[in-house]
Amino acid sequence: MNKLAGLTKVDCAIGCTAEGCVIADGRPHCMHPCKSGVPFSFKEDPAIQKIYADACTVLGVQNKHLVEQ
Ligand SMILES: [Zn+2]
Repeated sequence: MNKLAGLTKVDCAIGCTAEGCVIADGRPHCMHPCKSGVPFSFKEDPAIQKIYADACTVLGVQNKHLVEQ
């Protein structure tokens, strides 16, 4: 979970920049769970789902985008 170092409920991870959000798997759009979250068009992306779930675990927040099996 090193990618998510520095992640808090108000700030994104240290590795997150305007050019690429770690939670968005490097896409230039922050998907912090307490800020923007995952846009509808990326909900099916497995890489984003995984890192987003990890971010929710780190923050201790509910993963609203968890896909029901
Ligand atoms: Zn971010």
